[in-house]
Amino acid sequence: MKTNLKTMCSSNSLDTLSESYSSEGDDEPPSSCDESEPPQCSPASNRLKLFGTVPDKDWNDWKWQFRNRITSVEQLARYAPLSIKRFAEISAVTSTYPLAITPYYLSLMDLYNPQDPVAMQAIPSIEEITVKTTGVEDPLEEKRDSVVPGLVHRYPDRVLMVLTDICPMLCRHCTRKREWKNGDWVRTPNDIEAMLNYIRQNKNVRDVILSGGDCLTLSTKHLASVISRLRQINHVEIIRIGTRFPVVLPQRIDSEFCDMLSEYGPIWMNTHFNTVNEITPDSAAAIDRIVHAGVPVNNQSVLMRGINDTVEKQMKLCQGLLKIKVRPYYLFQCDEVQGTDHLRTPIDTGVKIIEGMRGYTSGLAIPNFVVDLPQGGGKVTLQPNYLLARTEKEVLFSNYQGRFFTCHNPAAEKEAKPHPEPEVTAKNPAFNFSEVMDADRVIV
Ligand code: SF4
Repeated sequence: MKTNLKTMCSSNSLDTLSESYSSEGDDEPPSSCDESEPPQCSPASNRLKLFGTVPDKDWNDWKWQFRNRITSVEQLARYAPLSIKRFAEISAVTSTYPLAITPYYLSLMDLYNPQDPVAMQAIPSIEEITVKTTGVEDPLEEKRDSVVPGLVHRYPDRVLMVLTDICPMLCRHCTRKREWKNGDWVRTPNDIEAMLNYIRQNKNVRDVILSGGDCLTLSTKHLASVISRLRQINHVEIIRIGTRFPVVLPQRIDSEFCDMLSEYGPIWMNTHFNTVNEITPDSAAAIDRIVHAGVPVNNQSVLMRGINDTVEKQMKLCQGLLKIKVRPYYLFQCDEVQGTDHLRTPIDTGVKIIEGMRGYTSGLAIPNFVVDLPQGGGKVTLQPNYLLARTEKEVLFSNYQGRFFTCHNPAAEKEAKPHPEPEVTAKNPAFNFSEVMDADRVIV
């Protein structure tokens, strides 16, 4: 297996990676691998149907899951009913955008339903290469904001460390899809030292986000070496880990990893559930282990056409997340990335979903709907407009039921600083204001 991995990776840090995947009994197994425990398997899972001959010992070993990912249309055809046309389409897409699905994630799919929300996130669609409108490779212009290779510094007090581009699964909606064509890579020790040096020298950086790809593809030992060095920098207050492992390969959240988390806190985790079908006993148990290590878990989902673009679907997802102790944090408008046009919804869809949730479920279950602006403009949150009009003394609101209420406006009585008017016309000369559609959101 080491040989295969070395063929796959082009980085100098192969030892780190090969250490991650050389699971022939040399590493501590994931905590859920304890053979005395019954297998944790979703009632909705197709595990027995698709992988019935795989023993629990392997199934619950994240390294086995990683090594046995489905990475070609030929492999996929062993499990999924693919017509000749569909086979050819997937084959064509994967020559541009490759495919990788863990056996665990495959077992959550209804492979006979083309609209299955789990399958749609993982199985390539021909529309990735045939529908092209506005998408670009790097809409957030992360390359422009890279201060040293792999380190993105866009906001004043936080930085993003991109440690690898390897992921356990290749999500069809991925913002960093552009990296897939570069093959698999891991930052070298020199790269990492350069990133740490930048952080050491910039005392305004108080929050560091470890990301990828998915940084949990690195061994726990490797992650610990980065995190422990970050912890030695006094002005770094918070470390955040962005990972989809609890969703697509929850077996990775083992006791060695959780012990490391509890040693170097405060650490926060952002994960990425998109549909309630991804909430399973396995993912719930993984989250439970993370929370027990003292790490709060937030969710950042992506709004996608046909997958999670209704109030009902978001309600089920967000209420389900709270039940497993995950806070719905962001609902992202799908970025304008090449190869994802078919998944994007109108921006109003996100606003209407929030409107359909607000008041009908607790605020804890309602994420912030966010558009990450192109050209590196950063994130803006959008919400329904409940403020209808205001005078110096009063503000007119509607509530979630459409009833009207007037509030006294204390700010009018103080020496309030006027909010600076944004210079929209100067910064956006191409924007056609004569076609503004949303007159009802203009404050009078
Ligand atoms: S896990 Fe994240 S980075 Fe990796 S493919 Fe999915 S969305 Fe992209």
